[in-house]
Amino acid sequence: LDGVVVVGAGQAGFRTAASLRECGYAGRIALVGDEDTAPYERPPLSKAYLTGDGDEDLLWLRSSEYFVRQSIDVLADRVTAIDRAARTVRLAGGGVLGYGHLVLATGARPRGLAVPGGELRGVRPLRTLAEARILRDELRRAAEVVVVGAGFVGLEFAAAARALGCAVTVVELRDRPLARAVGERTAEHFTLLHRRQGTRLLFGRRVARFLDDGTGAVAGVELTDGSRLPADVVVVGAGVEPRTELAAAAGLEVDDGIVVDARLRTGDPAISAIGDCAAFPHPAAGRRIRLESVQNAVGHARLVAERLTGQERDYGDLPWFWSEQFSSTLQIAGLADGHDTEVVLGEWPEAFSVLLFRADRLVAVETVNRPPDHMAARRLLTKGVPLTPATAAEGGFTLTPVP
Ligand code: FAD
Repeated sequence: LDGVVVVGAGQAGFRTAASLRECGYAGRIALVGDEDTAPYERPPLSKAYLTGDGDEDLLWLRSSEYFVRQSIDVLADRVTAIDRAARTVRLAGGGVLGYGHLVLATGARPRGLAVPGGELRGVRPLRTLAEARILRDELRRAAEVVVVGAGFVGLEFAAAARALGCAVTVVELRDRPLARAVGERTAEHFTLLHRRQGTRLLFGRRVARFLDDGTGAVAGVELTDGSRLPADVVVVGAGVEPRTELAAAAGLEVDDGIVVDARLRTGDPAISAIGDCAAFPHPAAGRRIRLESVQNAVGHARLVAERLTGQERDYGDLPWFWSEQFSSTLQIAGLADGHDTEVVLGEWPEAFSVLLFRADRLVAVETVNRPPDHMAARRLLTKGVPLTPATAAEGGFTLTPVP
């Protein structure tokens, strides 16, 4: 294998390079990232980094010495085109890199809102360290904050803004928070939590436009029902879309993500796609899915590194995820999508676990402030231990110790 080029130096790209070395790969590795920083973790950007003292050391995935020691070339540049016939990529800075294998780890970008005023100063997404630096600073001067979208990033940001003393309103189109990600009981917990902390949550409401203060900065948000919310800072957390343009331009199949097979190969065997940008078949879903999580990025990277060093397997790692909001730590194991039954264990709404079933089969477990249950759930789901809602709902059933 004559050199690996990784496009994107986020979680997935970084882990590919690190895993290749862990797997004993001794060839050339180039990690090309278009952000103006060393590879970093995104999760703290909507959590501890916002409320903390601004220490960026908690963000870096590794020190610069690590990359030198491991002979991983980190290039601050953007890949603008792939020449599959020549096996090269072109860089915005003018260079050309040859590859034996190319890994696309281009991640995702925030979806904008197609409403007037989105370009005003003070209206922004939260995806990158550059954006988090600005928001961290703005939050310390802001009185009124509006968050559009009650997804994970939106709610975590709302919690941080509230913890810093801002008046916070969250506007969500759906009738509950985290609608795409969690079951009803967990969603209800987060509604109660944020309301108890003094955050206004407006469900079933849509943004019509952002209002200008006359100087090009945001002054507020107008909803389609005509109501107006004052705002110094607006964060739009309306979800992300996979960055597929490079792959598409190179003639690779794209369908809500760069389409890959069970070994994370695109239609071109010399090109893999992983992490947030990849649409891959997962055995637990029985179809192609795309996940946005650290676990997924790390698991994908590991599989590709193993494959490139001679250990082939299909991808089937158990998905897991976490979120922190105020005093609540949510952990999710498995894939909740399409579940039909929820069974709650423990003390809802303080510290509890929700078992999610689809057609009498356990598909996911959400835990709030119950880390041992989460670890037990991961083992249970990985082993595929049969469990029905009726058994789980019987008095005395617990996840720990593992049944
Ligand atoms: P990314 O992290 O998006 O990295 C892709 C990189 O590729 C980017 O730096 C991008 O600029 C670069 N790139 C794209 N195209 C090119 C190109 N042509 N040339 C060069 N570079 C390019 N997950 C969890 O599991 N738990 C959490 O608590 C959690 N919290 C989060 C909080 C926030 C604020 C955000 C934004 C995400 C959070 N996530 C969390 C999700 C997690 O961070 C992502 O799933 C993960 O970062 C995906 O990694 P990735 O490498 O696939 O994509």
